[in-house]
Amino acid sequence: MSKLPDVGTTIFAVMSQLAQDCKAINLSQGFPSFEPPAELIDRIDHYLRSGANQYAPMTGVPSLRRAIAGKVARMQGRSLDADAEITVCTGATEGLFSAIQAVVRPGDEVIVFDPAYDSYEPAVTLAGGRTQHVPLAISDNGFDFSIDWQRLEDALNDETRLVIVNFPHNPTGAVLSAEDLRQLAELLQDTGAYLLSDEVYEHIVFDGKPHVSALSVDELWERCLVVSSFGKTYHATGWKVGYCMAPEELSAEFRKVHQFTTFAVNTPVQHALADFLQSNPAFHERLPAFYEEKRDLFCRLLEDSRFRLHPARSTFFQIVDYGDISDADDVTLAKRWTEELGVASIPLTVFCEQPFTGTRLRFCFAKDDETLEAACEKLSRL
Ligand code: PMP
Ligand code: GLN
Repeated sequence: MSKLPDVGTTIFAVMSQLAQDCKAINLSQGFPSFEPPAELIDRIDHYLRSGANQYAPMTGVPSLRRAIAGKVARMQGRSLDADAEITVCTGATEGLFSAIQAVVRPGDEVIVFDPAYDSYEPAVTLAGGRTQHVPLAISDNGFDFSIDWQRLEDALNDETRLVIVNFPHNPTGAVLSAEDLRQLAELLQDTGAYLLSDEVYEHIVFDGKPHVSALSVDELWERCLVVSSFGKTYHATGWKVGYCMAPEELSAEFRKVHQFTTFAVNTPVQHALADFLQSNPAFHERLPAFYEEKRDLFCRLLEDSRFRLHPARSTFFQIVDYGDISDADDVTLAKRWTEELGVASIPLTVFCEQPFTGTRLRFCFAKDDETLEAACEKLSRL
């Protein structure tokens, strides 16, 4: 008897494999076609050749934890204890998994917002918890997603152990404002629920908007685990280095799981990241303009197509509505267009308990211009 009877292979693996098999342009799984900064690669090379090849400390290399603390203090105004409140983990994926195992007990309820990133629910199920799906609200124009506060209030109850938020949001690009976080804090105030905030796209927010982190709100921090990743920020999704920040007691629980999920993260990359954060503290500041240009190019290239879209507010994903082209369901169509048109995308309904997102697909625009041009040329034929 399977422990995850309703779980198949993740859509990201399925679509990337199909894209490869069909030699399609892969705008499905989210990864950049650009290289990480050369200086960062040089530092890894340096550490590989100077003996940093054995286990790192279980909680992460101290210089990296200190560098993360420095960045959080500068950006979010929160002063973290690098020894007690920051743990380096194997990508955000492990951070999320370990966080969920650390706090969710059998019978507990966990609230996620649909469309929800696909790693949350299986982790909750393995911990013996139940996932409650609260759909995000969709604006009248069909493209802006936001938390429906009434639905969240209705969903919260005595069994709620954890609420998981992911802003900047994959796949919709929705972001939270300071006012939203205040509302969230108010709703959680009298509950026993923890908050898990997945902020891996923290540095990819557009149109001059700031990213407002759960770290910046005192009332949330007390009950919060914040997970981020270096994968998106340094164009290095394959390195799988992330981190989890939580108050001391929660971090201690997180570490009890982390030590047996992964023990420690690879050593040379951690040292190199610590050096790079020190020498290039403002590297992430170039990301909004860089990805905004990609987003704008992608949207412009589809201007004369039959897709409907509104430029994404964050992340490196663009949602498009294909309702004027086909009434097929999104999973069927994503596969069909990978096979027949040669462009792979991600359907949204796989992230939802109820298929309320309709005729929408997600395309990754973290690609060089030629790739985006070739893909949009094909998409414009539809
Ligand atoms: N959360 C979200 C919302 C993501 O999109 C991703 C992957 N892109 C992750 C977590 C996992 O991050 P990592 O690759 O660092 O494990
Ligand atoms: N987060 C990436 C995406 O949304 C995929 C990560 C993965 O494949 N696990 O496309």
